[in-house]
Amino acid sequence: MPFIPHRVFFEDGSLDYPIAQKILDALKSNPRVSVNILKPKQRIKTISGASWQDAYEAGKRTLVVGIRKTLNFQSCKPSAHYQLPLVTGCMGQCEYCYLNTQFGKNPYIRVYVNLEEILSQTASYIEQRKPDITIFEGAATSDPVPVEPYTGSLAETIQFFARQEYGKFRFVTKYTDVDSLLNLDHQGKTMIRFSINADHIISNYEHFTPALPKRLLAAGKVAAAGYPLGFIIGPVILFDNWETEYKRMFKALRNNLGSNKPDNISFEVISHRFTARAKNTIMNVYPSTTLPMNESHRKYKYGQFGYGKYVYQPEQIEAITSYFRQAIEDSFPGAGIDYII
Ligand code: SF4
Repeated sequence: MPFIPHRVFFEDGSLDYPIAQKILDALKSNPRVSVNILKPKQRIKTISGASWQDAYEAGKRTLVVGIRKTLNFQSCKPSAHYQLPLVTGCMGQCEYCYLNTQFGKNPYIRVYVNLEEILSQTASYIEQRKPDITIFEGAATSDPVPVEPYTGSLAETIQFFARQEYGKFRFVTKYTDVDSLLNLDHQGKTMIRFSINADHIISNYEHFTPALPKRLLAAGKVAAAGYPLGFIIGPVILFDNWETEYKRMFKALRNNLGSNKPDNISFEVISHRFTARAKNTIMNVYPSTTLPMNESHRKYKYGQFGYGKYVYQPEQIEAITSYFRQAIEDSFPGAGIDYII
Protein backbone atom coordinates (compact mmCIF):
# COMPACT_ATOMS: atom_id res chain seq x y z
CA MET A 1 0.00 0.00 0.00
CA PRO A 2 2.36 2.75 -1.19
CA PHE A 3 1.75 6.35 -0.20
CA ILE A 4 1.51 8.64 -3.21
CA PRO A 5 0.72 12.18 -2.14
CA HIS A 6 -1.42 14.46 -4.30
CA ARG A 7 0.49 17.54 -3.13
CA VAL A 8 3.99 17.90 -1.77
CA PHE A 9 5.35 21.09 -0.19
CA PHE A 10 9.03 21.69 0.41
CA GLU A 11 9.49 24.21 3.20
CA ASP A 12 12.16 26.85 2.88
CA GLY A 13 15.68 25.42 3.29
CA SER A 14 14.59 21.78 3.21
CA LEU A 15 16.04 21.18 -0.25
CA ASP A 16 19.54 21.74 1.17
CA TYR A 17 19.22 18.25 2.65
CA PRO A 18 19.73 15.00 0.69
CA ILE A 19 16.48 13.46 1.98
CA ALA A 20 14.47 16.32 0.48
CA GLN A 21 16.33 15.98 -2.83
CA LYS A 22 15.55 12.27 -2.83
CA ILE A 23 11.84 13.01 -2.29
CA LEU A 24 11.87 15.62 -5.05
CA ASP A 25 13.51 13.15 -7.45
CA ALA A 26 10.93 10.50 -6.61
CA LEU A 27 7.90 12.76 -7.17
CA LYS A 28 8.78 15.50 -9.63
CA SER A 29 8.06 13.54 -12.77
CA ASN A 30 4.74 12.16 -11.55
CA PRO A 31 2.06 14.21 -13.36
CA ARG A 32 -0.47 13.41 -10.63
CA VAL A 33 1.59 15.03 -7.89
CA SER A 34 1.61 18.79 -7.46
CA VAL A 35 5.10 19.80 -6.33
CA ASN A 36 5.39 23.13 -4.48
CA ILE A 37 8.53 24.80 -3.22
CA LEU A 38 7.67 27.31 -0.52
CA LYS A 39 9.36 30.67 -0.11
CA PRO A 40 10.53 31.81 3.33
CA LYS A 41 7.51 32.29 5.65
CA GLN A 42 5.12 31.12 2.91
CA ARG A 43 2.42 28.86 4.34
CA ILE A 44 0.81 25.76 2.90
CA LYS A 45 -2.18 26.73 0.86
CA THR A 46 -5.42 25.27 2.17
CA ILE A 47 -8.14 24.48 -0.35
CA SER A 48 -10.44 27.47 -0.17
CA GLY A 49 -14.07 26.81 0.73
CA ALA A 50 -13.43 23.09 1.25
CA SER A 51 -15.80 21.17 3.52
CA TRP A 52 -14.35 19.46 6.60
CA GLN A 53 -14.39 16.14 4.78
CA ASP A 54 -12.67 17.48 1.66
CA ALA A 55 -10.05 19.37 3.67
CA TYR A 56 -9.36 16.28 5.76
CA GLU A 57 -9.04 14.03 2.69
CA ALA A 58 -6.72 16.56 1.03
CA GLY A 59 -4.65 16.83 4.24
CA LYS A 60 -4.19 13.05 4.28
CA ARG A 61 -2.77 13.27 0.76
CA THR A 62 -0.44 16.18 1.48
CA LEU A 63 3.23 15.61 2.20
CA VAL A 64 5.18 18.43 3.82
CA VAL A 65 8.95 18.23 3.76
CA GLY A 66 10.55 20.36 6.44
CA ILE A 67 13.30 20.93 8.94
CA ARG A 68 12.61 19.99 12.55
CA LYS A 69 13.39 23.15 14.47
CA THR A 70 12.34 22.15 17.99
CA LEU A 71 14.79 19.59 19.20
CA ASN A 72 13.27 19.21 22.66
CA PHE A 73 11.83 15.73 22.51
CA GLN A 74 8.48 15.18 24.23
CA SER A 75 8.11 12.47 26.82
CA CYS A 76 6.28 9.35 25.69
CA LYS A 77 4.59 7.36 28.42
CA PRO A 78 3.92 4.51 28.80
CA SER A 79 5.80 2.99 25.84
CA ALA A 80 9.13 4.89 25.93
CA HIS A 81 11.08 7.73 27.52
CA TYR A 82 11.02 10.11 24.55
CA GLN A 83 9.29 10.62 21.24
CA LEU A 84 11.72 10.58 18.32
CA PRO A 85 10.44 13.09 15.77
CA LEU A 86 11.04 11.66 12.28
CA VAL A 87 7.54 11.97 10.86
CA THR A 88 4.20 13.38 12.01
CA GLY A 89 0.83 12.43 10.55
CA CYS A 90 -0.28 9.36 8.63
CA MET A 91 -1.90 8.44 5.32
CA GLY A 92 -4.34 6.07 7.05
CA GLN A 93 -7.87 7.10 7.88
CA CYS A 94 -8.73 5.26 11.04
CA GLU A 95 -11.86 6.90 12.40
CA TYR A 96 -10.73 6.67 16.01
CA CYS A 97 -7.16 7.85 15.33
CA TYR A 98 -5.47 9.63 18.26
CA LEU A 99 -4.00 12.08 15.73
CA ASN A 100 -7.48 13.56 15.33
CA THR A 101 -6.88 15.35 18.63
CA GLN A 102 -3.73 16.99 17.34
CA PHE A 103 -4.19 17.73 13.68
CA GLY A 104 -7.91 18.46 13.28
CA LYS A 105 -8.93 19.59 9.81
CA ASN A 106 -5.51 19.60 8.11
CA PRO A 107 -3.81 16.31 8.94
CA TYR A 108 -0.71 16.75 6.76
CA ILE A 109 2.04 14.17 6.73
CA ARG A 110 5.23 15.94 7.64
CA VAL A 111 8.72 14.46 7.30
CA TYR A 112 11.84 16.02 8.80
CA VAL A 113 14.97 16.08 6.69
CA ASN A 114 17.58 17.19 9.27
CA LEU A 115 17.98 13.62 10.42
CA GLU A 116 21.62 14.07 11.40
CA GLU A 117 20.69 16.80 13.88
CA ILE A 118 17.76 14.79 15.23
CA LEU A 119 19.99 11.76 15.80
CA SER A 120 22.69 13.85 17.39
CA GLN A 121 20.09 15.21 19.83
CA THR A 122 19.04 11.61 20.46
CA ALA A 123 22.63 10.78 21.37
CA SER A 124 22.64 13.66 23.91
CA TYR A 125 19.50 12.35 25.59
CA ILE A 126 21.09 8.89 25.79
CA GLU A 127 24.26 10.37 27.24
CA GLN A 128 22.32 12.24 29.96
CA ARG A 129 20.62 9.09 31.26
CA LYS A 130 23.38 6.51 30.92
CA PRO A 131 24.04 3.96 32.37
CA ASP A 132 20.25 3.67 32.30
CA ILE A 133 18.84 2.63 28.94
CA THR A 134 16.81 5.31 27.16
CA ILE A 135 13.99 4.18 24.89
CA PHE A 136 12.75 6.29 21.97
CA GLU A 137 9.39 5.91 20.21
CA GLY A 138 9.38 6.61 16.47
CA ALA A 139 5.61 6.50 15.98
CA ALA A 140 4.23 8.69 18.75
CA THR A 141 2.54 11.08 16.33
CA SER A 142 2.65 9.15 13.07
CA ASP A 143 2.81 5.87 11.27
CA PRO A 144 6.33 6.19 9.85
CA VAL A 145 6.31 3.19 7.49
CA PRO A 146 4.33 4.56 4.49
CA VAL A 147 6.84 7.41 3.95
CA GLU A 148 9.91 5.25 4.50
CA PRO A 149 10.41 4.57 0.74
CA TYR A 150 10.80 8.35 0.26
CA THR A 151 13.02 9.17 3.25
CA GLY A 152 14.90 6.05 4.37
CA SER A 153 14.82 7.65 7.85
CA LEU A 154 13.74 4.55 9.73
CA ALA A 155 16.58 2.55 8.17
CA GLU A 156 19.11 5.23 9.17
CA THR A 157 17.68 5.41 12.67
CA ILE A 158 17.70 1.63 13.12
CA GLN A 159 21.39 1.56 12.14
CA PHE A 160 22.12 4.50 14.47
CA PHE A 161 20.60 2.60 17.40
CA ALA A 162 22.55 -0.54 16.51
CA ARG A 163 25.62 1.47 17.58
CA GLN A 164 24.13 2.76 20.86
CA GLU A 165 25.01 0.87 23.98
CA TYR A 166 22.47 2.70 26.15
CA GLY A 167 19.68 3.50 23.69
CA LYS A 168 16.81 1.56 22.17
CA PHE A 169 14.31 2.38 19.46
CA ARG A 170 10.78 1.21 18.85
CA PHE A 171 7.99 2.11 16.51
CA VAL A 172 4.58 0.77 15.68
CA THR A 173 2.85 0.42 12.35
CA LYS A 174 -0.21 -0.93 10.63
CA TYR A 175 1.61 -0.94 7.29
CA THR A 176 3.53 -3.73 5.68
CA ASP A 177 6.24 -2.27 3.42
CA VAL A 178 9.02 -3.45 5.69
CA ASP A 179 11.29 -5.19 3.15
CA SER A 180 13.83 -2.35 3.10
CA LEU A 181 14.35 -2.88 6.86
CA LEU A 182 14.86 -6.62 6.85
CA ASN A 183 18.55 -6.82 5.97
CA LEU A 184 19.79 -4.02 8.20
CA ASP A 185 22.32 -4.56 10.95
CA HIS A 186 19.92 -3.74 13.82
CA GLN A 187 21.71 -5.53 16.67
CA GLY A 188 18.33 -6.21 18.27
CA LYS A 189 18.12 -2.57 19.42
CA THR A 190 14.93 -1.77 17.53
CA MET A 191 11.60 -3.31 18.39
CA ILE A 192 9.07 -3.27 15.58
CA ARG A 193 5.47 -3.51 16.72
CA PHE A 194 2.38 -4.06 14.64
CA SER A 195 -0.92 -2.54 15.54
CA ILE A 196 -3.63 -5.18 15.19
CA ASN A 197 -7.26 -5.54 16.02
CA ALA A 198 -10.33 -7.71 15.58
CA ASP A 199 -11.63 -7.86 12.00
CA HIS A 200 -14.77 -6.02 13.03
CA ILE A 201 -12.70 -2.96 14.04
CA ILE A 202 -10.35 -3.11 11.05
CA SER A 203 -13.10 -3.39 8.48
CA ASN A 204 -15.38 -0.78 10.05
CA TYR A 205 -12.96 1.87 11.22
CA GLU A 206 -9.42 1.47 9.79
CA HIS A 207 -9.77 2.86 6.26
CA PHE A 208 -6.77 2.77 3.89
CA THR A 209 -4.81 0.34 6.04
CA PRO A 210 -3.76 -3.25 5.21
CA ALA A 211 -5.97 -6.14 6.37
CA LEU A 212 -4.90 -8.27 9.35
CA PRO A 213 -3.36 -11.18 7.36
CA LYS A 214 -1.02 -8.76 5.55
CA ARG A 215 0.08 -7.18 8.83
CA LEU A 216 0.75 -10.62 10.26
CA LEU A 217 2.75 -11.61 7.20
CA ALA A 218 4.93 -8.50 7.64
CA ALA A 219 5.27 -9.29 11.36
CA GLY A 220 6.51 -12.77 10.46
CA LYS A 221 9.17 -11.27 8.15
CA VAL A 222 10.33 -8.86 10.84
CA ALA A 223 10.57 -11.70 13.34
CA ALA A 224 12.52 -13.83 10.85
CA ALA A 225 14.93 -10.90 10.41
CA GLY A 226 15.67 -11.12 14.14
CA TYR A 227 14.00 -7.92 15.28
CA PRO A 228 12.34 -7.93 18.69
CA LEU A 229 8.65 -8.07 17.85
CA GLY A 230 5.64 -6.60 19.59
CA PHE A 231 1.94 -6.13 19.03
CA ILE A 232 -0.27 -3.29 20.07
CA ILE A 233 -3.84 -4.44 20.32
CA GLY A 234 -6.00 -1.39 20.16
CA PRO A 235 -8.19 0.33 20.43
CA VAL A 236 -10.08 -2.42 22.19
CA ILE A 237 -13.75 -1.65 21.68
CA LEU A 238 -16.48 -3.47 23.57
CA PHE A 239 -18.77 -4.31 20.65
CA ASP A 240 -21.19 -7.29 20.66
CA ASN A 241 -19.24 -10.56 20.66
CA TRP A 242 -15.94 -8.79 21.27
CA GLU A 243 -14.51 -11.76 23.18
CA THR A 244 -15.19 -14.21 20.33
CA GLU A 245 -13.80 -11.84 17.69
CA TYR A 246 -10.62 -11.15 19.64
CA LYS A 247 -10.23 -14.89 20.15
CA ARG A 248 -10.29 -15.25 16.37
CA MET A 249 -7.63 -12.54 16.09
CA PHE A 250 -5.34 -14.43 18.48
CA LYS A 251 -5.86 -17.60 16.48
CA ALA A 252 -4.86 -15.79 13.27
CA LEU A 253 -1.84 -14.38 15.07
CA ARG A 254 -0.69 -17.82 16.23
CA ASN A 255 -1.26 -19.41 12.84
CA ASN A 256 0.45 -16.68 10.85
CA LEU A 257 3.53 -16.30 12.95
CA GLY A 258 4.08 -20.04 12.93
CA SER A 259 7.74 -20.92 13.18
CA ASN A 260 8.75 -17.24 13.09
CA LYS A 261 7.42 -16.68 16.59
CA PRO A 262 10.28 -15.13 18.58
CA ASP A 263 10.78 -15.96 22.26
CA ASN A 264 10.57 -12.37 23.45
CA ILE A 265 7.32 -11.24 21.85
CA SER A 266 5.57 -8.47 23.78
CA PHE A 267 2.07 -6.99 23.90
CA GLU A 268 0.52 -3.64 24.68
CA VAL A 269 -3.25 -3.38 25.00
CA ILE A 270 -5.04 -0.04 24.74
CA SER A 271 -8.75 0.36 25.41
CA HIS A 272 -10.71 2.85 23.33
CA ARG A 273 -10.66 6.47 24.50
CA PHE A 274 -11.45 9.81 22.92
CA THR A 275 -11.02 13.50 23.61
CA ALA A 276 -13.62 16.20 23.00
CA ARG A 277 -11.48 17.60 20.18
CA ALA A 278 -11.08 14.21 18.48
CA LYS A 279 -14.83 13.59 18.70
CA ASN A 280 -15.45 16.94 17.04
CA THR A 281 -13.09 16.07 14.15
CA ILE A 282 -14.53 12.56 13.82
CA MET A 283 -18.13 13.83 13.74
CA ASN A 284 -17.18 16.34 11.03
CA VAL A 285 -15.29 13.86 8.86
CA TYR A 286 -17.36 10.73 9.51
CA PRO A 287 -20.81 12.09 10.43
CA SER A 288 -22.38 8.62 10.50
CA THR A 289 -19.62 6.94 12.45
CA THR A 290 -20.65 4.08 14.71
CA LEU A 291 -17.71 4.57 17.07
CA PRO A 292 -19.01 4.49 20.64
CA MET A 293 -18.50 8.10 21.82
CA ASN A 294 -21.28 8.79 24.28
CA GLU A 295 -19.59 10.76 27.07
CA SER A 296 -22.20 9.73 29.63
CA HIS A 297 -21.13 6.08 29.25
CA ARG A 298 -17.50 6.91 29.98
CA LYS A 299 -15.25 8.08 32.79
CA TYR A 300 -13.40 11.36 32.31
CA LYS A 301 -9.67 11.15 32.91
CA TYR A 302 -7.20 14.05 32.95
CA GLY A 303 -4.40 13.49 30.41
CA GLN A 304 -0.64 14.04 30.06
CA PHE A 305 -0.86 17.05 27.75
CA GLY A 306 -3.54 19.02 29.57
CA TYR A 307 -6.60 17.65 27.77
CA GLY A 308 -8.82 14.99 29.28
CA LYS A 309 -9.99 11.75 27.73
CA TYR A 310 -13.17 9.74 27.96
CA VAL A 311 -12.17 6.20 28.89
CA TYR A 312 -14.20 3.09 29.65
CA GLN A 313 -15.65 2.66 33.16
CA PRO A 314 -13.39 0.93 35.73
CA GLU A 315 -15.38 -2.34 35.62
CA GLN A 316 -15.11 -2.42 31.82
CA ILE A 317 -11.34 -1.83 32.02
CA GLU A 318 -11.19 -4.68 34.50
CA ALA A 319 -13.04 -6.97 32.07
CA ILE A 320 -10.64 -5.98 29.27
CA THR A 321 -7.61 -6.52 31.49
CA SER A 322 -8.57 -9.97 32.67
CA TYR A 323 -9.68 -11.06 29.19
CA PHE A 324 -6.44 -10.02 27.48
CA ARG A 325 -4.16 -11.32 30.25
CA GLN A 326 -5.74 -14.72 29.84
CA ALA A 327 -5.94 -14.65 26.05
CA ILE A 328 -2.27 -13.67 25.69
CA GLU A 329 -1.18 -16.33 28.18
CA ASP A 330 -3.27 -18.96 26.37
CA SER A 331 -1.89 -18.06 22.93
CA PHE A 332 1.68 -17.09 23.79
CA PRO A 333 2.61 -18.54 27.19
CA GLY A 334 5.24 -16.41 28.89
CA ALA A 335 4.91 -13.46 26.47
CA GLY A 336 5.51 -10.04 28.01
CA ILE A 337 2.63 -7.66 28.58
CA ASP A 338 4.00 -4.11 28.79
CA TYR A 339 0.70 -2.62 29.85
CA ILE A 340 -3.05 -2.88 29.51
CA ILE A 341 -4.71 0.50 29.79
S1 SF4 B 1 -2.68 3.91 10.95
FE1 SF4 B 1 -2.40 4.68 13.05
S2 SF4 B 1 -1.66 6.76 12.81
FE2 SF4 B 1 -2.52 6.14 10.85
S3 SF4 B 1 -4.65 6.87 10.86
FE3 SF4 B 1 -4.64 4.76 11.62
S4 SF4 B 1 -4.47 4.96 13.86
FE4 SF4 B 1 -3.88 6.92 12.97
